[in-house]
Amino acid sequence: MSVAGEPSFRQSVDLMFNRAVQVMDLSPGLQEKIRVCNSTYTVRFGVRLRGEIFTFTGYRSVHSEHMEPVKGGIRYALSVNQDEVEALAALMTYKCALVEAPFGGSKGGLCIDPRQWDERELEQITRRFAYELVKRDLISPAQNVPAPDMGTGEREMAWIVDQYRRMNTTDINASACVTGKPLNAGGIHGRVEATGRGIQYALREFFRHPEDVAAARLTGGLEGKRIVVQGLGNVGSHAARFLAQEDGAKIVGVVERDGGLWSDEGLDLEIVLDHLRRTGGVKECPVGTYHADGPTLMEAPCDILIPAAMEGVIHLGNADRIRAPLIVEAANGPVTAGADEVLRNRGCIIIPDMYANAGGVTVSYFEWVKNLSHIRFGRMERRAEEARHRLLVEELERLSADRGLGWTLSPGFKDSYLRGADELELVRSGLDDTMRGAYQSMRQVWRTRPEVTDLRMAAYIVAIERVAASYRSKGL
Ligand code: GLU
Repeated sequence: MSVAGEPSFRQSVDLMFNRAVQVMDLSPGLQEKIRVCNSTYTVRFGVRLRGEIFTFTGYRSVHSEHMEPVKGGIRYALSVNQDEVEALAALMTYKCALVEAPFGGSKGGLCIDPRQWDERELEQITRRFAYELVKRDLISPAQNVPAPDMGTGEREMAWIVDQYRRMNTTDINASACVTGKPLNAGGIHGRVEATGRGIQYALREFFRHPEDVAAARLTGGLEGKRIVVQGLGNVGSHAARFLAQEDGAKIVGVVERDGGLWSDEGLDLEIVLDHLRRTGGVKECPVGTYHADGPTLMEAPCDILIPAAMEGVIHLGNADRIRAPLIVEAANGPVTAGADEVLRNRGCIIIPDMYANAGGVTVSYFEWVKNLSHIRFGRMERRAEEARHRLLVEELERLSADRGLGWTLSPGFKDSYLRGADELELVRSGLDDTMRGAYQSMRQVWRTRPEVTDLRMAAYIVAIERVAASYRSKGL
């Protein structure tokens, strides 16, 4: 949490926005229009549980409707409040613009500790919350499309889509009213791990630019890089797993609610994740050295720090002790505006949240398109693609035999070349392309404009410019 005297999360986002617009050519009126949050709906509803009536408070905030539907997750946490959902909704606007997902920004939240309720109770609460939002078009395939966020996942999305369907029995596009659904309820392959995958693709793209790597006082590629991950939820656990297993990075430290683990050799993640699943924490985990004061591990020397849990974990109280030269914001708003300045002045490179964690909404976009087109990606082309590839392989083999060339294609090549892309491969390809493209547009601004000091400022500039263009084209 941020230290006393620091601006709120919402103010922090505004401060970052203001740094960017200072170097842009936007009228003050348009700046203000883009910055403000259009509306926030607060609902208090009662649910009868355990023989009593419990009242819950929920929010759905719409930051910008320059494109519709507006998009953004629904969070379940006791810390949810209006300032937070508004900050998160604003970040959704900029994130969608940066990765060219054709949505405005929105976010929702329910003040609840999901661990205090059993599955049946959570279903009742979720359905009632969804009912309140659907009634006001705050859940709708054309206007407002939620998704998972902290404390929610596929299960909650399945309840929400079912609730929407019950209330809109003739809407043929009902399944597009929410994303992050389970596969059997209209979901898409690769959505669960999408944000973690996006972190991996973002880092891979960063390491494709030696100049940027040098700016972070690092050398080489991802292989062997020492990484600390704060928060092993859906985002952190997938990112850590992919980076360790596929890119040869070393997860030397992890921070969880009940403490942290450290190992100079790199932690065996499967053991850590299994322990976390079984016990809910990292204490007494058979691998690594346990540290009761988890957050201090974020200050330990490493190459890359990935805060992947929640906002404000790097603040004025600890920023000057953070030693990682590269921070990847897998969570939304993990670095406060004050800490951002401290770190920037010390030469730390921050890959900002609106880019780094955009993998989730990118694949949400694919899911929404899939739902509206009522067909799985690749269903029409896959076998045709395979047949064409087979033609080529057979022709090569025939040529080789006819002319006695003795060519043999390696079995590995043949298998992977012949296989047409399925939905998961297409999703990964679309996500990879999106993450590369967005990095390049952000980098272009960072590298070519001397007044743009960092990637966050560049990301805001790209995003705000796109939102402004959309307003201008509407005549505003
Ligand atoms: N909650 C995620 C985020 O903060 C995903 C949003 C979405 O898929 O709409 O980006």
